[in-house]
Amino acid sequence: MSVLRAPARTRRARVRVTGTVQGVGFRPYVYRLARSFGLSGYVLNDAHGVLLEVEGAGDVVQRFLARLGPDAPPLAVLERLEVSELDSTGDAGFAILASPGNEVPDAPVTPDTATCQDCLAELLDPADRRYRYPFTNCTNCGPRFTIVRGVPYDRPLTTMAGFHMCALCLAEYEDPGNRRFHAQPNACPECGPSVSLVDRCGEPVGLAGTRDFIQACATALLNGSIVAIKGIGGFHLACQADDEAVVARLRARKHREDKPFALMVGSVSEAQLLVELGPVERELLLSVQRPIVLAPRLAAAPVARAVAPGVPELGVMVAYSPLHHVLLADVGQPLVMTSGNVSDEPIAYSDEDALDRLADIADLFLLHDRPIQTRTDDSVVRVVGSEARGRAGRCVVLRRSRGYVPVAVPLPGVGSHVLACGGELKSTFCVAKGGRAWVSHHIGDLQNYETLRSFTDGIEHFERLFAVVPEIVAHDLHPDYLSTKYALERDGVKLVGVQHHHAHLAACLAEHGVEGRAVGAIFDGTGYGGDGTVWGGELLFGSTADFERAGNVWPVRLPGGERAIREPWRMALSWLIAAHPDTEPDAIGIPGALAGLVEPEKWRSVAQLAVAGLGSPVTSSIGRLFDAVAALCGLRARINYEGQAAIELEAACAAAERASYPISVIHGNDGRLLIDPRETVRAVCADVAAGRSAATVAARFHNAIRDATVQACASVASARSADVAVLSGGVFQNRRLLGGVSDGLRRAGLRVLVPDRLPLGDGGISYGQAAVAARRAAGGSLGPSEE
Ligand SMILES: [Zn+2]
Ligand SMILES: [Zn+2]
Repeated sequence: MSVLRAPARTRRARVRVTGTVQGVGFRPYVYRLARSFGLSGYVLNDAHGVLLEVEGAGDVVQRFLARLGPDAPPLAVLERLEVSELDSTGDAGFAILASPGNEVPDAPVTPDTATCQDCLAELLDPADRRYRYPFTNCTNCGPRFTIVRGVPYDRPLTTMAGFHMCALCLAEYEDPGNRRFHAQPNACPECGPSVSLVDRCGEPVGLAGTRDFIQACATALLNGSIVAIKGIGGFHLACQADDEAVVARLRARKHREDKPFALMVGSVSEAQLLVELGPVERELLLSVQRPIVLAPRLAAAPVARAVAPGVPELGVMVAYSPLHHVLLADVGQPLVMTSGNVSDEPIAYSDEDALDRLADIADLFLLHDRPIQTRTDDSVVRVVGSEARGRAGRCVVLRRSRGYVPVAVPLPGVGSHVLACGGELKSTFCVAKGGRAWVSHHIGDLQNYETLRSFTDGIEHFERLFAVVPEIVAHDLHPDYLSTKYALERDGVKLVGVQHHHAHLAACLAEHGVEGRAVGAIFDGTGYGGDGTVWGGELLFGSTADFERAGNVWPVRLPGGERAIREPWRMALSWLIAAHPDTEPDAIGIPGALAGLVEPEKWRSVAQLAVAGLGSPVTSSIGRLFDAVAALCGLRARINYEGQAAIELEAACAAAERASYPISVIHGNDGRLLIDPRETVRAVCADVAAGRSAATVAARFHNAIRDATVQACASVASARSADVAVLSGGVFQNRRLLGGVSDGLRRAGLRVLVPDRLPLGDGGISYGQAAVAARRAAGGSLGPSEE
């Protein structure tokens, strides 16, 4: 039998690829793939992503299309592949074409990515032309978000614009077969950025006995110097991690009493000498995002006590830029690498700024001449386990910044362009359109001019990068937040006020794509309630559209307002008064655990405030209850960083303690549930008076809060026929609480949702605000008089 095969029909297909496809080696990948199939056509980057056309025999084109998605380069994230058919043009060869200009940008910019294995090998190879070159990168790694000034992502629109590639670099850049093909920050010692080492007056430091500035820096560190080091998203302050005296000096100069410092090591095996690592932690340490991972400190870790006083964990990251790799190899031991700032200011990211603000802290400055466009802090994650045995932990994001930003988070149903301004502490903002939201890098505490500038500059930058022209601006209800004031000053937009804890609930629901209603335990320190009180221990029932306050923690006074946040003993007093309604407030004495820590006169005057004092609002904050119990145990009467008392209370817990204090969940007059811990507070006092350890008291208190939360959520869910529970808010960064409550709710038959990619704390608020605004706009419930 002879079969005459008809010549395969020629087919020409156009493919529109959207997602994270620029700056990740997608075009050379397409080029190589098309050539391997003998197809003609072209590929280019444009404002929407990647556009390509291929022409050849129909079945070959089909096989090409089948491979296109699955074989994409490691850093590419494909959201959509749209194929359309065209008439054959008969062109020959396959080409990578230049980006067309003057289009409205829509293409995602990618995050900064840790040095890849290939670049690392070159960096450590004395025979390579990039040996020890601290700006080595390729298509698979290197700076992105922090150097981008605009899109499309091409060299002239990055802070590399001022460097002109030498012939060798240009040849790599233009060779589609090369790992550096169109690697925008491509550079070498001949043509790229360089480092310098200067003293606090900006004068160059000699290189006596060392081969380059990095080795000179390493020598200085080993001799006990504090060095400000310019990295990817800003400056770090570095010193030896095991030297008690130098770490103490850094604390004193930085005006940072207790807040833990992060550490950097050269590899995971070095991290293993410092902290206990499970499989999830190990994976996170090695991920291309390279966050700071909080993990239990090993007793034998060669780390000064002053690095993380009072907490059993250390924050560790593995070197993520070539500069860090060379430096850590030269130093040969872990370094403190804390943010380059004074106290709570934003980190310095320009040379001038660093020399100006860090001159009293650093002895030396390791600078470089590649500008940083956007100040971007290190990200911080923690693995939170489940109390159930055998279940692997999950990653909880405490700060989402370098390495993660600006990856889009899906936000289904967002039709109009939205800007959400976030909250106040640990703030972020968010822009959204077309089913996607871009949550900003960590901006910080929006309480000073410098941070406000980061916020407003950041919004402008994101609006440009992602071509978002906000029609709707969402904001917190707190009238005094700088983010709210900024929102109210935007002209020609519709404003949507979103309650703080509703934003937490909505963020988690939207991230998990849940449209229906859920019960949410939203636990944090402070959020504007809209009813004149400060919320913070909330049981909400609702969706991204709206909510009902189904319950809350028993409200007490916040004696002296903000001061009660910094001085947990005030909350202890407030709770003692609440817990002893039959005792005159004046008759409540200073408990033994606080003896000597509070002046009796002060105690008496705050007792007056706690009854009905001026500037002492009522609060249902559960964060403040944790503070009160930490004070009642004698752990801490005053704090010097946010959340310190609660963090130390969690750290104190005896792991094996199973007993729990009594705690009531009652129905209030208005139908709301009340978590009433007054009995719990009395039991805490009785145990402390009986000489029980803080470890036992802390654990029993945690167990009581766990039990009450599970009972209250299950009760709300059953009364309203809900089967989904959301746990969010900064208080749930607490391993023991999150693990215990999740397990309890699952046993009660509920599906438990926790923020996954976004922070549990206030860094997730902006995305939640955007979700609420988008939902209300879609439902037509936006009016000029909105809230
Ligand atoms: Zn590389
Ligand atoms: Zn070069």
